[in-house]
Amino acid sequence: FFDHIEAAPADPILGLTETFKNDPNPKKINLGVGVYKNEAGVTPILDCVKQAEKLIFETETTKSYLPITGLPEFGRLTRELIFGADSELVDGGRAVTCHCPGGTGALRIGADFIKQQNVAAKMWISDPTWANHYQIATAAGLKFERYPYYDRATHGLAFERMLETLNQAEEGDVVVLHACCHNPTGIDPTVEQWERIADFISEKKLLPFIDFAYQGFGHGIEEDAQGLRIIASRCKEMIIASSYSKNLGLYNERVGALTIVSADKETAARVLSQMKIAVRTAISNPPAHGEKVVTTVLSNNELRALWESELTAMRERIRNMRVLLVEKLKEAGAGDFDFITEQNGMFSFSGLNKDQVEILRKEFSIYIVGSGRICVAGINAENVDALAKAIADVIKR
Ligand code: PMP
Repeated sequence: FFDHIEAAPADPILGLTETFKNDPNPKKINLGVGVYKNEAGVTPILDCVKQAEKLIFETETTKSYLPITGLPEFGRLTRELIFGADSELVDGGRAVTCHCPGGTGALRIGADFIKQQNVAAKMWISDPTWANHYQIATAAGLKFERYPYYDRATHGLAFERMLETLNQAEEGDVVVLHACCHNPTGIDPTVEQWERIADFISEKKLLPFIDFAYQGFGHGIEEDAQGLRIIASRCKEMIIASSYSKNLGLYNERVGALTIVSADKETAARVLSQMKIAVRTAISNPPAHGEKVVTTVLSNNELRALWESELTAMRERIRNMRVLLVEKLKEAGAGDFDFITEQNGMFSFSGLNKDQVEILRKEFSIYIVGSGRICVAGINAENVDALAKAIADVIKR
């Protein structure tokens, strides 16, 4: 049965981490995987999470199953976070939410739902994007097309080309958008551009599917939701896959959420009933621990305030590292990399090509994804000098 199976290529990002682990160089630097690291190079458990876990440990009385969609309170708090506390979408009944295993689970169950319910046949996905988007669309049985996103010449958003390409989309197609901190480029639309995107999507009758994996990592919890909220104000229907992996540091607890907005309450109730089937057939019901942590942190005033301050500290550290890297690159004679400070979130598209990335790995034990994407969260005061000097060396060759 299995003889014909060919070995799959290693995941480009997780495979890189493996190679990094086996590298004996004590000065090695891993800027591959998208995980936050503090100044000491550690991915910490947030204090607010530790405190919530203590509360859960003391009060939890059963490990029996959760409801298929997770706890209703989890869904409500998630909608508050993404739409804003005073949005009618929090309690009005038009938006329904289920807990999925991570943002990935939410994307996959959302794509399954689209396929199972004949919502659409094709997704339009940015080029470049988080590579799993393409794979998830295909795995769910959907076709996809790419729309341009990155302009190499300006290191900015290829906005007009993006809309020109999306103009080829047919009524009823899905458009996948990153709400903030676009992975891998770190480039997000401006408010004016979001308004144009929202008008465009609504006029062409496309369905927005928003990937919201980094809320709070760009400019702030509310600020990062601006684009999504502009879309919600102009499109009656939308799908959102959000994640608590990064903003609560709950990577391995797998907490994400799928939220579907319908035009009216009655439709939303039918959507919810089918969403439950999609969850049931994929995972039956969600894991509880991470969901309880999120619910505890977001509903407890003290823990919520602590979370916000910890999230702010993570965001500011990354911003500081962007500024420091640009300074050090200038000092090292690498030239002008100011565009890095304009980008948002964990990642920066450095402009380094495949060969340069290869030299950095072989000669300097610096691990960067082949596309030139740097995880800025892996930079610290200790490794930034070596990094800037190595980049300067490589680009001068
Ligand atoms: N979407 C994007 C754009 C991402 O970068 C990631 C994580 N790398 C995810 C979704 C999935 O995150 P999670 O770990 O919550 O599944």
